[in-house]
Amino acid sequence: MVKRLAVIDVDLCVGCQSCMFACNRRFGEAGLARTAIFVQSVGGFERGFVVKVCRACRDPPCVRVCPTNALIERKGGGVRLDYRKCIACGNCISNCTIGAIFWDEVMKKPIVCTYCGYCVNYCPYGVIKLEEI
Ligand code: SF4
Ligand code: SF4
Repeated sequence: MVKRLAVIDVDLCVGCQSCMFACNRRFGEAGLARTAIFVQSVGGFERGFVVKVCRACRDPPCVRVCPTNALIERKGGGVRLDYRKCIACGNCISNCTIGAIFWDEVMKKPIVCTYCGYCVNYCPYGVIKLEEI
C-alpha cells in the first residue's frame, strides 16, 4: 500500500524540530543539513508553525519540470528521486507548489520525503503520521 506523511494537527506543534533532526539521522548524521521535513514559524511563537513535507501529489508538478527524468512519479502519488540522473538544476525546488523539496547541503542535490515515516516516531505530540493513500 502506498503511504505518505500527513500533518494531523499542526496546532499541537511546538517547533521543537525533533522530526527534522530525526529525518537527518536517517543518514547517520547529526544536524539539519539533509532533512526532508521542515518546521517553520508563521511569525511569532503564539501564532504557531507550519510543517512542510511532501504531500505525495498525484500528477506531481515537480516531475513535469525535471529535464532529466530524475524525479519519477510514484504509483498512487508522490515521487522518487534518482540521484544519479539529477543535475541539480533546482527546477523541482522552485516548482513544488508547497515548497516541500529542500536542498541537501551535503550531496548538493535536492531532497524530498521518501515516505518512510521515521520522523513520526520522534514527534512527541502526534503532529504527523504516516497514512495510506
Ligand atoms: S534538480 Fe535534479 S531532480 Fe530537480 S528538476 Fe533538476 S535535474 Fe530534476
Ligand atoms: S515534492 Fe511537492 S510537487 Fe512534488 S509530489 Fe511532493 S508535494 Fe507534490
